[in-house]
Amino acid sequence: MLPLSGIQHFSFCRRQWALIHLEDQWAENLRTVEGRLLHSRAHEDGLRERRGDVLTIRGLTVYSQRLGLSGKCDVVEFHADAAGVPLRGEDGRWQPFPVEYKRGEPKSGDEDRLQLCAQGMCLEEMLCCRIPEGALYYGETRRREQVVFTPELRAQVEAMAGEMHDYARRGYTPRPKPRKGCAACSLRELCLPAMRRISSASAYLSAHIGEKEGP
Ligand code: SF4
Repeated sequence: MLPLSGIQHFSFCRRQWALIHLEDQWAENLRTVEGRLLHSRAHEDGLRERRGDVLTIRGLTVYSQRLGLSGKCDVVEFHADAAGVPLRGEDGRWQPFPVEYKRGEPKSGDEDRLQLCAQGMCLEEMLCCRIPEGALYYGETRRREQVVFTPELRAQVEAMAGEMHDYARRGYTPRPKPRKGCAACSLRELCLPAMRRISSASAYLSAHIGEKEGP
């Protein structure tokens, strides 16, 4: 099993994922600390709470044998629904609805949606049911964004889980590739020296080629 939460790192940057999950490199920055505090609050009860037709479970452990992923859901809401699944200790049937808490604001990339969809797919496998959607809650906007688990999103999760396992088997860490997101990356101080080496090597090569090609 690989950590489910890694899918967001993998989607953001393959190298970041490999540094964290294969090489045990981790560096805190303001974003990661704030994110951790938000998650610890979302997980802190580890308990179920019932309000009317909604049962909320925090910090639920989930896994999928098929995807080879396991992790924890911040929150899973179970909505009373005749088409749902039975739950131990509760009457009736319940439709699972995962909710993932994020510190910032909605991102342009799909990393948060992929992580949430992977949670939904784990819950489906564990509870033998279909989960069509979940939600992302963003601390900065204090709003929920509904996420539909489309066939395309599911296919991306499957492909990424396969790719992550392939990297893990091979112990493969991709070379650094500078990108826009590097400025906010918690690992840039670990990663950038390698980038600087590449950049000076490229600079050297360009200069060298330039000399050869010059008059
Ligand atoms: S600094 Fe950039 S290339 Fe390096 S791990 Fe972070 S996002 Fe990836």
